[in-house]
Amino acid sequence: MTATGGSATRIVLLGAGHAHHYALAHLEAYARSGCAVTLVAENPFWYSGMASGILGGDYAPEEAQIDVFALAARGGATVVAGRATFIDRPGRRVVLEDGKTVPYDLVSLAIGSGVRTDLTLPGPESAFTVKPLARLWDLRCVLERLVHERAQAPVTVVVIGGGASACEAAANAHALITARGGRAQIVLVTGETWLSVLPDHVRAQVARDFARRGIRVERARALGCTAHGVAVVGRPVITCDAVVIATGLKPPPLAAASGLPVDGEGALLVDANLRSLGDPRIFGGGDCIAIAGHDVPRLGVFAVRQGPVLHANLIAAARGTQLRIYRPQRRWLSILNLGDHRGLATWGPFNWHGRGAWLLKDRIDRAFIRRYRRTCLARWSS
Ligand SMILES: Cc1cc2nc3c(=O)[nH]c(=O)nc-3n(C[C@H](O)[C@H](O)[C@H](O)COP(=O)(O)OP(=O)(O)OC[C@H]3O[C@@H](n4cnc5c(N)ncnc54)[C@H](O)[C@@H]3O)c2cc1C
Repeated sequence: MTATGGSATRIVLLGAGHAHHYALAHLEAYARSGCAVTLVAENPFWYSGMASGILGGDYAPEEAQIDVFALAARGGATVVAGRATFIDRPGRRVVLEDGKTVPYDLVSLAIGSGVRTDLTLPGPESAFTVKPLARLWDLRCVLERLVHERAQAPVTVVVIGGGASACEAAANAHALITARGGRAQIVLVTGETWLSVLPDHVRAQVARDFARRGIRVERARALGCTAHGVAVVGRPVITCDAVVIATGLKPPPLAAASGLPVDGEGALLVDANLRSLGDPRIFGGGDCIAIAGHDVPRLGVFAVRQGPVLHANLIAAARGTQLRIYRPQRRWLSILNLGDHRGLATWGPFNWHGRGAWLLKDRIDRAFIRRYRRTCLARWSS
C-alpha cells in the first residue's frame, strides 16, 4: 500500500494513546521503510496507571505525563496538535475539530475512551468523570480547596461506579482529604455488584478495608445527580460536594462517524491484525477498538501489548508484506491503588493486598514513564 508516484507512504497516528507509544519510540523504522509519519494528538499524554495516585496526592501531574510531541518530533514525525473528528475516507484525509485536514495513505487509531453514562450531570465544577484523566487533577484541586475552606467540617464525595477506577477514586479521594487534614465522607454507589471480576474473598477484603476507613459502599443504582447531591434508588438523596462518574468506559464516536464497521458501543471493529474490518487502510489499538472474536478488557496493559503489533503491521502494510497477528494475553497483572500507599495486586487466581502491592505498582509505573523520557533524551542528544 505504498503511496503513488514513489513518494513516502503517509502514515497518520491518530491519538497518542498507550497503543501508539511503541510506534512513537521506534519512529526510525518508518523512515527506513519509506514512510512519513504524522501524529495528530493532544499534548501531554496522561498515564492512567498513575491517575488515581494524582488524585490521592502521591504524584504531581508532571510525574505522570509524557511529552508526546517532543517524542514524535525528535523521532522525525510531523506533529499536528488537535482532535480529529472524522476520517474522510474517499478523500483520504483526517479532519480535525478546527477544520484542518491531514492527508494519509494509512491511519492508526489510539484515541482511547470516554466515560459511559446516561446520567444527567451538573456543571464541571462539581461533577468529575474519570476520563479524560486530567479531570482527576481538577478534582484534587477542588478537594484541596474545600479542605482548606472547611477547617473541620466534612468534605463529601460520592463516587458512582462499581469497577476498579471507581474504587480507586473513592479510596484516593479519602486519602487526599485525610492527608490534607480534612474530614472525608466518601460514598461509593456501585449498583447491584461491585468489583465483580474479583473473587468473593478478595472483594470482602476491600470491603473491610473501606469500612475501616469509613468509606460507605451503597449497593444501589444512581438515578441522577445535581450540583448538591446524588439520587439513588430506594434511598434518600446523598448530599455531596463533588460527584465522580466512573460508570465504565466507551469508545469515542470517531470510527462510527467515519462510516467504519463498529460494535454496539461504537468501537472500531478490527481483525486479528488490528486492521479495520471495513477499510484496509485503517488500523487501531487500545480502548477504541473491538477485536472480532475476542472480548478484550479496556485496560492499558492490553493497549501496550498491542503497540508492537500495530507498529509492525503499519510498516508491513506500507511495504505490502505479511501482517502480524495479535494474541491477547490470558493473564495479566493488575494492581489497584487503594490510597494511603496500599494496593491490591491480582494475577490470575493470585492476589496480594497491602503496602507491598502499592510499592510494586509505583515502581512499575515510574519505570514506564522513565522509559519514554529516556527515549526522548536519547533522541535529543543524538
Ligand atoms: C482512573 C483510571 C485508572 C486506570 N488505571 C489503569 C491501570 O492502572 N492499568 C491499566 O492497565 N489500565 C488502567 N486504566 C485503563 C486505561 O486508561 C486504558 O485502558 C488505556 O488508557 C487505553 O489506552 P489507549 O491506547 O486506548 O488510549 P489512551 O491511553 O486512553 O489515550 C488516548 C489518547 O487519545 C487522545 N484523543 C482522544 N480523542 C482524540 C481525537 N479525536 N483526536 C486526537 N487525539 C484524541 C486523548 O487525549 C488521549 O491522549 C485506567 C482507567 C482509568 C479511567
